[in-house]
Amino acid sequence: LGLTSTTANIPRYARVNTSLWSIDEAIKYFVSQGYSFINSFSSLNHLANSKGFQKDAHIPNLLAFSPNAALQDDPAYNSGKIILQDKASCFPAVVLSPPSEDNSVVIDATAAPGNKTSHLSALMGNKGTLYAFERDRKRFSTLKMMIGKAACKNVTPVNTDFLTVDPSDPKYLPVTHILLDPSCSGSGIVNRLDHLLEGEPESEKSQHERLDKLAAFQLLMIKHAMRFPNVKKIVYSTCSIHASENEHVVRDALSSDEAKAGSFSIASRNEVLPDWPRRGFAEEMNSTDAASALVRCLPGEDATNGFFVSCFVRDQNITLKRK
Ligand code: SAM
Repeated sequence: LGLTSTTANIPRYARVNTSLWSIDEAIKYFVSQGYSFINSFSSLNHLANSKGFQKDAHIPNLLAFSPNAALQDDPAYNSGKIILQDKASCFPAVVLSPPSEDNSVVIDATAAPGNKTSHLSALMGNKGTLYAFERDRKRFSTLKMMIGKAACKNVTPVNTDFLTVDPSDPKYLPVTHILLDPSCSGSGIVNRLDHLLEGEPESEKSQHERLDKLAAFQLLMIKHAMRFPNVKKIVYSTCSIHASENEHVVRDALSSDEAKAGSFSIASRNEVLPDWPRRGFAEEMNSTDAASALVRCLPGEDATNGFFVSCFVRDQNITLKRK
């Protein structure tokens, strides 16, 4: 019961695809469709009114509607002008804050279905090159469809395993920013939690084994990203609530040979959504400072699904000294 009411507490979020129109145009459009704009960032309670909507307080170009708003039937969704994406899943692209120059080169390492790809593309002003890797063939088709619908002109989709991409390939030398949103347990997704309540409970042992495998894979992916010679920022995110896929993976990545060789450290809190109050778990990081540089969302409690975001940065001074 608790979880069902949690689902109802999460607004329906619509990210305005700024490659196609502006947030002001979107607001005018939804008002013309009979929705009423609430010009306030405060309490989301008035979204109980099924026609109300407002701007999100943390993410630019994100609108919050009532949980019951039927946006999936709206022409703005079908034409790619809005992307239906949970608020928390908008965090990684905003934290990565990719450059928007004609010569910018960015990687989305695990891209399908492509919500974060189209977000990155819009933040890059559709300029430069955004390589979007996806290993799974079917999901790759969805990714290509999504890129087309969202009018992303700077995306090069590649159906491959990111771990097989050679960081020393001259094509990837100019890569400065990497988004890493790999497969995870999905334990933060509220609807999935609802579903699990009805299914057979997983034994503790098999849950541990599954999480250990996922964590080992997630760590490999971060270490691979750290091998790109000119990458200066890597954002790692999951929709998991487990410390084993979140804080522990970050801790292991920070103490890896790749982090040492590349002089990577965790970005400071002021680079990672400083106004978002819920931070990483200090007891899982063994450091209050490091934990405060991480972002967490608790399912339902933060009007989002459960989510985790971290950001690694290269110490530019050390790199320059080495050159
Ligand atoms: N970022 C996506 C979005 O916001 O729409 C969601 C990504 S989903 C959590 C993870 C994706 O990574 C899946 O589509 C999975 O098939 C893909 N994937 C997993 N391992 C991969 C690998 N080694 N290389 C490339 N893609 C991979």
